[in-house]
Amino acid sequence: MRVLSGIKPTGDLHLGNYLGAVKQWVAMQEDIQASGGETMYFIADLHGLTEWIDPARMTANTIEMTATLIAAGIDPARSIIFNQARVPAHAELAWLLNNVARVGWLNRMTQFKDKAGKNREGASVGLYDYPVLMAADVLLYNATHVPVGEDQKQHLELTRDIATKFNTDYGTELFTLPEPLVSKAAPRIMSLRDANAKMSKSNPSEQSLVKLIDSDETIADKFRKAKTDPDLLPATMAELAERPEARNLLTIFAALSDRAPDDVLGDYAGKGFGQFKPALADLAVAKLGPIRDEMVRLLNDRGAIDAILRDGAERAAALAAPTLHGAQTAMGLLV
Ligand code: ATP
Ligand code: MG
Repeated sequence: MRVLSGIKPTGDLHLGNYLGAVKQWVAMQEDIQASGGETMYFIADLHGLTEWIDPARMTANTIEMTATLIAAGIDPARSIIFNQARVPAHAELAWLLNNVARVGWLNRMTQFKDKAGKNREGASVGLYDYPVLMAADVLLYNATHVPVGEDQKQHLELTRDIATKFNTDYGTELFTLPEPLVSKAAPRIMSLRDANAKMSKSNPSEQSLVKLIDSDETIADKFRKAKTDPDLLPATMAELAERPEARNLLTIFAALSDRAPDDVLGDYAGKGFGQFKPALADLAVAKLGPIRDEMVRLLNDRGAIDAILRDGAERAAALAAPTLHGAQTAMGLLV
């Protein structure tokens, strides 16, 4: 079993990334390795290029994102941590797979439609091709399981289609078909300002997201000012169906405390947000504060973080080389 997942260095890691992805990655590191498997986590800098990002930010974010992952519990001694750009095989395999993927398949990808919006003509070719690079990321390492949020499920389906077509067209069994790992414990966290939009690194509103780098005061302030309604809390989540802001805050409380949302509501039914929000702020500070402190400590030595990435890239490149070579020779390329 080999698990692989990535995160773009497009901004600071936020609570949604943490609860929806990174916290699960840490748990998987324990579980998968206990059963003899391997975990690989990468900073998807090549994917980060698909939308404009200031070059200096790209460099800084790559280092800071790595420090955050390590502070959150990803252990470089137990998982391979690297950045995509240092393993050229990702881009090389993506080019090969570009000739297997069909335009009609990419046209169905909802993330492209969402991200490009009305300005499709002005979107980068990279943004359109993003799912093929993602297929290369996964197939390069013959990853068997890929933890994905809802937003990435369609891309993983496409990865399977590309792998199947490649294996059929070239009469090979080179590529393993990856399975999505959709964790029941991984919630989708919404913006604190608009519970209909997901919490996202690229949201320009600072108040919409809690960052792992935020100070205790900032974390508490953002929760105090989070959008809610004036009603009291009910006894079950089912009764919050029409109250997305309340649902979101309950989801966050439950995920941070590793409890079921209905169990949390047991403590707050009949109470208002005046009581709930300060408790949530305290909980978030208690859980996120130590991660931030460790991140800040690690960032005192950026060279050491980069050395971890270099070492990870070397290990990843060694695993990638035979697959890339297999794909090249299957296609008849003289390499
Ligand atoms: P961007 O706005 O640049 O797309 P992002 O915040 O969506 O950034 P990604 O790098 O696209 O972050 O995603 C990293 C991981 O975090 C993925 O596994 C994704 O499913 C997960 N993730 C992102 N946003 C949320 C969210 N609001 N709730 C839960 N999981 C999330
Ligand atoms: Mg995203």
